Amino acid sequence: KQKATVVIYWHRTDLRLHDSPALQAALSLNPTTFIPLWTWDPHYVYKSRVGPNRWSHLLQSQTDLSKSYKALNPHQKLWVVREAPQTVLPKLWARWGVTHLVFEKDCDAYARARDEVVVRLAEEAGVEVIVRSGRTLFDVDEIVAKNGGKATMSMAQIEKAVEKIGKPDRPVDAPTAIPDPLEWDGMDLTGVEEEGDGVLEDGVDVNSVHRSGTDKQYAGIMGPGRDFGVPTLEEIGIDAGDVRTPHCGGESVALRLLARCIADEEYIGRFEKPNTSPAAFEPQSTTLLSPHLHFGTLSVRKFWWDVQDVMERRRKAKKSNASIPTNLPGQLLFREMYFAAHAAVGEPFCRTYGNPMVRFIDWHLQSKSPEEIAHGDAGDKLYEVDSDEAEVWFLRWKEGRTGFPWIDALMRQLKQEGWIHHLGRHSVACFLTRGGCYVSWERGAEVFEEMLIDHETACNIGNWMWLSCTAFFAQFYRCYSPITFGKKWDPEGNLIRRYCPELAKFDKKYIYEPWRAPIADQRKWGCRVTGDGSSSTNEDGNIYPKPMFDFDQRRTICLDAMKNAYHVGLHGDDKEVKDGSWRKA
Ligand code: FAD
Repeated sequence: KQKATVVIYWHRTDLRLHDSPALQAALSLNPTTFIPLWTWDPHYVYKSRVGPNRWSHLLQSQTDLSKSYKALNPHQKLWVVREAPQTVLPKLWARWGVTHLVFEKDCDAYARARDEVVVRLAEEAGVEVIVRSGRTLFDVDEIVAKNGGKATMSMAQIEKAVEKIGKPDRPVDAPTAIPDPLEWDGMDLTGVEEEGDGVLEDGVDVNSVHRSGTDKQYAGIMGPGRDFGVPTLEEIGIDAGDVRTPHCGGESVALRLLARCIADEEYIGRFEKPNTSPAAFEPQSTTLLSPHLHFGTLSVRKFWWDVQDVMERRRKAKKSNASIPTNLPGQLLFREMYFAAHAAVGEPFCRTYGNPMVRFIDWHLQSKSPEEIAHGDAGDKLYEVDSDEAEVWFLRWKEGRTGFPWIDALMRQLKQEGWIHHLGRHSVACFLTRGGCYVSWERGAEVFEEMLIDHETACNIGNWMWLSCTAFFAQFYRCYSPITFGKKWDPEGNLIRRYCPELAKFDKKYIYEPWRAPIADQRKWGCRVTGDGSSSTNEDGNIYPKPMFDFDQRRTICLDAMKNAYHVGLHGDDKEVKDGSWRKA
């Protein structure tokens, strides 16, 4: 009698069927039983900051995948269980008689540590583990090796490293058939959740964070009466009213979005990131595929090759294409660069402490006081930042109540919809750190982690370091003005009118600086500019806050503080360039 091949395919970073090398490897085992599995990992459920929009995106992605499985085999679905993978997987492979565990490689620091434990336990249990790269264009460990074992910290380095590897593999086809799971009696896990105490041999209690969750979140998915289904928002304790993003999750959505972009060959060929508007909405000016790359509902290799094929057709037709790094392949290489940097540095990549790649900046020190600036003093001394004031600025930034409409509109768009354009991210990140509030990038990265639907540890951390000029890029002379930068893209202030509706009626002359509008006009346009942002109305009706500081003054303070942090002297001959940014003269 032929020996049974019972395969768990563990979905993590890959909620898709198309172009999945790991799924292909799993199916090529010709399983007698195949179980596509998702385990709720307490690390993500309780330790990561995940806002309602990203939760919703994830559940939509799971539901879509589950449907796709069912379409290929009515006995199938995405089998969802809730417990730390390190403890639940051994129970599952004992109960289900599993012979193979297959998954896509994940090089994030936490995932690597978790997977090492899982692989060791599998080996002890005699379960064969198969791992394939597929989350990135190339195996990022290979990129690191080609970069001399070092973190990739520039586009030149990533380009050189991938040139040594060659082209990414072409996408593999989606499966057309999926084997059966076990009969229901065999799948049933009643009682299994009681087994084991969640403590690994080495004393690590992987479920400890589990216990600190709310009862609702803890509610077992494996217990009697449960059907391994994708939970509803309600079941995981999220109020559906808090989900405000219009951007939907799921492989079928991702493939439709990609197809729509690819069909517009002119858009693909001419795409140059710096020429895409951060103020565009409905439609946005970039592809908005980042959440799908994050959840793996879109394969990055498919994205890459579909774009390359368009560019090749255009080349043959003698039509021009934009080039790296500003074109779409360039964007995907930035993603690759951050993934490889994270893979090389490991866990310290996510913070300043112990991170060899990041410049230490003491965000508590600045080199001029407002009084000195007011008196035109040079100010060679260092001052402690007023941390209470900085905390207030941080909270106002987070809530979109700084009194600078461009910044507030972007932060409110982020909070409501979970996505903002790359240059919008530049604006708000620069403003929070070296170009306004002088607050540590780590605080900002935490807010993005909570709010972004495309939150990707490597890309988020890497870009925050870039924007705060603490790693990757150090032109701190260039600073985004919250007034002139937005105006250049959107002179009518449409983005502001959309996300700060209290300012919707303001004349375009004042839309970026509403505090300059005469009081009679403010009244006429239905909103007074007053207060500190703690309230959105007063006895007269709508109010919008006054700017929380004098931006020009803050820019000077920050620039000097950065010079000091870089030890380049406090009296550089900088000049302001047209778009309101600063460059070294
Ligand atoms: P497109 O311009 O259409 O680009 C296509 C794809 O290329 C994107 O989907 C993305 O996967 C990749 N890409 C483009 N630019 C970058 C970049 N600079 N770094 C890494 N990948 C890039 N991107 C994330 O995916 N997750 C994050 O958590 C994240 N945090 C960021 C934080 C800050 C402070 C900044 C400045 C940028 C951040 N980015 C992040 C990068 C970038 O802003 C987004 O990838 C991009 O805006 C997503 O929109 P899109 O899909 O329309 O991009």
